[in-house]
Amino acid sequence: MLQGLFDDDGGDGEPYYQGTANTGSKSTVEKPLSPRNETNLCGLQNQGATCYLNALIQTLLFTPEFREPLFRLSAKDLNLLSNSNDSSQTPSSGSTLKVRKIIVELQRLFAEMLLLNQQACSSIRLTDSFGWQSNETFDHQDVHELNRLLFDAIQKSLQGTKQSNLIHSCYEGSTINYTQCKQCQKVFKRIEDYQDLPLVVQDSPNLHTSLANMFTLHEHLIGDNQYRCSSCANMLCDAEKWAKISKLPPILTFPLQRFVYDIKTGNRLKKTTRYEFPFDIDLKEFCEDSVIETNYELFAVVIHKGTCYSGHYYGYIKDIDHIGCWICPPPPSSPAVRHSHSRGRFKSDEKSI
Ligand SMILES: [Zn+2]
Repeated sequence: MLQGLFDDDGGDGEPYYQGTANTGSKSTVEKPLSPRNETNLCGLQNQGATCYLNALIQTLLFTPEFREPLFRLSAKDLNLLSNSNDSSQTPSSGSTLKVRKIIVELQRLFAEMLLLNQQACSSIRLTDSFGWQSNETFDHQDVHELNRLLFDAIQKSLQGTKQSNLIHSCYEGSTINYTQCKQCQKVFKRIEDYQDLPLVVQDSPNLHTSLANMFTLHEHLIGDNQYRCSSCANMLCDAEKWAKISKLPPILTFPLQRFVYDIKTGNRLKKTTRYEFPFDIDLKEFCEDSVIETNYELFAVVIHKGTCYSGHYYGYIKDIDHIGCWICPPPPSSPAVRHSHSRGRFKSDEKSI
């Protein structure tokens, strides 16, 4: 899906990477672009069915911990300078440096969305940098899957730069999975890293219940589900299994698993039951004692409206840096009040979900 992370800097004498729009895409970029409205915010044009991508890109743009380190990468870092003397990124198959295409296009798109006086920008150059064919742009993708693929691609594209740890430092945490053998009482530990914590929505009314099911309930491995214990000569033994969060990232993502597969009918279903999540949450009860900072505030929500076969993605995002101009709803019989804000300070220690 995300191919062509790097593009040959071809040695054609051009000092900068020249991105080209995919002519196979149904672009609306040729139409006259309207200026921003009074919100001062910039949207993204829909390439057909790329609302899932647009919602994700907007979320990343409004995440200063992600956006600002990306902007700090220079043209040299991204191998955009043909006369760079840095040979650390030289591919083994040739002598030319490769442009970090996805990062270049993310930088460009973020800059356009922040600076151009347009109501919407085109993401065609970014999707081209993914290596998408035109028909892929129009297939509705799952935003959770795209998020993982995009992070993986960004991580690979940042290797060897001063921001090579960006995805890890913003989004990565870890859990410890425990299994205790009831025969010898030995406890086995396995650490797993995560970039998001998918939550089961079915039969759960809220975020807290889903987390409690994952991190406070103990599963009993008995009968056909016994545990093969290495301390008991690899015999099958009764055991108990549970998990705890051992590391929390600054930005924690909970994909809600509303799409389920019905084994009886073979159909894919979307669970549309009410599911509640708070503005603030303390995750202490789900964590190891060694985890100190466990409080989060809600930062962004990406919503899918529709069925499991079609629909629309959109998002609500907290404007931490006051990029937009927000209009208070007028109280009865009084004129609207408009609040104009300047860009805020970068807060590296803010935890968000
Ligand atoms: Zn044992």
